[in-house]
Amino acid sequence: MKCRRCQGLMVKDKVYDPDGQFLHLDIWRCINCGETVDPTILQARKEKQAKEEQQDPLYTKKAG
Ligand SMILES: [Zn+2]
Repeated sequence: MKCRRCQGLMVKDKVYDPDGQFLHLDIWRCINCGETVDPTILQARKEKQAKEEQQDPLYTKKAG
């Protein structure tokens, strides 16, 4: 996995979950710039992307 900010190497890490829903959260941490990526954020991003892709054909029909 590459960092979206600096394209550096990301490694798996664990953080304490402040909300207490899970004891620890598995995250990705960039060893270069320190950027962290939370899997739940990734999941939300995927769902958002999927919705946008579903809407896309309508726009391309109008445009094309
Ligand atoms: Zn980075």
